[in-house]
Amino acid sequence: MPTKLIYHTDPFTLEFTAHIIGKTILPNDRVGIALAQTYFYPTGGGQEYDTGTIGDARVIEVTLDDAGNVLHIVDRDVIGEIVPARIDGERRRAFMQHHSAQHLLSHTFEHARDLETLSAKISIESPATIDLPAAQISESDLIRVENLANEIIRADRAIKSYFVAETDIGKIPLRRPPKVSGQIRIVEIDALDYSACGGTHCTSTGMIGILKILRVELRGERTRIHFVAGQRALDYFQDAHAITARLALDFSIAPKDILATVERQRESLRAALTQIEELGAYKLRADAAQMIANAEHVGAVRIAIVFLRDQTIQQARALALILKTDANLVSVLATRDDAKIGLIVTCGENTGANANALLRELLAEIGGRGGGDARLAQGGGAATDDQLNTLLANANKSARMN
Ligand SMILES: [Zn+2]
Repeated sequence: MPTKLIYHTDPFTLEFTAHIIGKTILPNDRVGIALAQTYFYPTGGGQEYDTGTIGDARVIEVTLDDAGNVLHIVDRDVIGEIVPARIDGERRRAFMQHHSAQHLLSHTFEHARDLETLSAKISIESPATIDLPAAQISESDLIRVENLANEIIRADRAIKSYFVAETDIGKIPLRRPPKVSGQIRIVEIDALDYSACGGTHCTSTGMIGILKILRVELRGERTRIHFVAGQRALDYFQDAHAITARLALDFSIAPKDILATVERQRESLRAALTQIEELGAYKLRADAAQMIANAEHVGAVRIAIVFLRDQTIQQARALALILKTDANLVSVLATRDDAKIGLIVTCGENTGANANALLRELLAEIGGRGGGDARLAQGGGAATDDQLNTLLANANKSARMN
């Protein structure tokens, strides 16, 4: 005997006496419970299962098999055959609101834009969605659809459900053809929208509270509409309001001026970054000039060996790119990043020295790695402060010998 689905006619009963007629032992101490009749909604038709308790056990999932048997999966065994059961009301209410909102939204998209709903997902944790065919949906279309749906919510029209025999289904102006046969359950929004649906629904549109479209996502052949309803919509407005109120307070402006203010801030940030970049380039040229001025003269060649204590290897490289253009300069720049040192060697074209050869010679001391060309070479490796000092002294000697 298939389980009698009594939530079909009464979605408001959340506490009832469960008559256990069968049990299945499942892995991980879980138990599958069969009841003669149930108020628990099993996953199906795009809507997820109800949660709650049967006896002392937590209902963690509810499934429906092809034969119409509902299995209540609980986290431990239940003692007794007649036990109290309770459905989590907040979750059930959210599903009712989102499922009815989905029918309403599908109806309004069809009515306002002639776009049929291809599939729907009733989710209360992430926004619920409907998939429409690929279409350009403008901002004003969205507002129009949203306003129309919310007008129907405020009109508090009845949402009815009833069964129709498959042979009579042609008399019902269904939005989509049914996927089931036999006695078909119809959910009707008061002469506006007729769906073949087994879900738990509000009994009037007013119970949906409010419907808000959050996002339009283009997905190849489909357009996905993300939406929230009821308490979840209020949660969304409360969060969004808290953010805008906080921004308005921080900037000491009215909420309506936030966008313009943020845009102005973005522009001044962009200008400031450009200026910082220019100043950075200026400082780099000044640092290079200073280094060349302080370089030691050995015949016609000048030698600059510098440990850039607080600079990164990237900053040292920017400096080296300027230094290598000085035809008479040999430079060795060292940086430190924790246990690792970085080394960059430059050799001007009149120095007769080779940057790559000099770098490899210096790095051999610490087993470091690196390379480059005759003008500029870069590398590094692990080295102590003593090793770094030795290395820089060696660099001086080698540079002089050229
Ligand atoms: Zn439905």
